[in-house]
Amino acid sequence: MMGGMPAWLSTQAAVVVIAFGLLLWRETRRPLRDRVERRLVHTARNVAVGIVSAAAVHLVETPVVLPFAAFVEGRGLGLLRVVNLPTWLDVVLACVLMDYTLYVWHVLAHKWPAVWRFHLVHHADLDLDASTAVRFHFGELLISIPWRVAQIALIGTTPQALVVWQTATLVSILFHHSNAELPLRLERALSRIIVTPRMHGIHHSVVESEVNSNWSSGLAWWDRLHGTFRLDVPQRDIVIGVPECRAPRQVSLARMMAFPFVPRSPYRGDDAQRIAAKDA
Ligand SMILES: [Zn+2]
Repeated sequence: MMGGMPAWLSTQAAVVVIAFGLLLWRETRRPLRDRVERRLVHTARNVAVGIVSAAAVHLVETPVVLPFAAFVEGRGLGLLRVVNLPTWLDVVLACVLMDYTLYVWHVLAHKWPAVWRFHLVHHADLDLDASTAVRFHFGELLISIPWRVAQIALIGTTPQALVVWQTATLVSILFHHSNAELPLRLERALSRIIVTPRMHGIHHSVVESEVNSNWSSGLAWWDRLHGTFRLDVPQRDIVIGVPECRAPRQVSLARMMAFPFVPRSPYRGDDAQRIAAKDA
């Protein structure tokens, strides 16, 4: 324990803070895409959304999933308990399987209207940067808890593996949402294994056919495996966001927090939307 904080939590926090700092520095030095909103306003709003979500995770998700993982381990439940593996391999395999089932959840978050109305708050961001990584409506995090519980039970994810996976996923999400320009050759090489900023930028496009690609959150393999991998849209051609929120006043903090609970029209995003957004 350190100052009342469990050691794993302080390690997790340190890794995440260092990653965030490095990405902010790179975003300032070498931005990948031009900004629509003022950076300070944009970051402050996303951090506010993130603080509410962090509170929801701390108060509801962690007290549920961490003891549940301990219960699953104690009972010897899950796929990974069928074989007797060294701890390091067990942790690696659990992370890989958690990552794949998160890919499946992300696809469902777009396909199920009840989840999409929450996930849309994340996609409504007009700019994509490391702060977008924490812009998840607290409702999306809460409704994903049953899925997380099912992942842990099915895979047999131990508390140790869960913490490693959560930390790695958070760092990965910060990285691929960032507005950091990397050399194209480096990014091509990285995208053989992990999700990169250009890759995820395509997923945040206003164009529906582009949104329906690059669903992975950690390893890029799942998109390659399912034929949903794309790296063929130049970042300068991408309009970030969703068709129904095109102006900064439409993505205010109050509007975003209320967004999942108000009636809205179905998703429409095609090339006409891209042209309209570019002309606006
Ligand atoms: Zn998405």
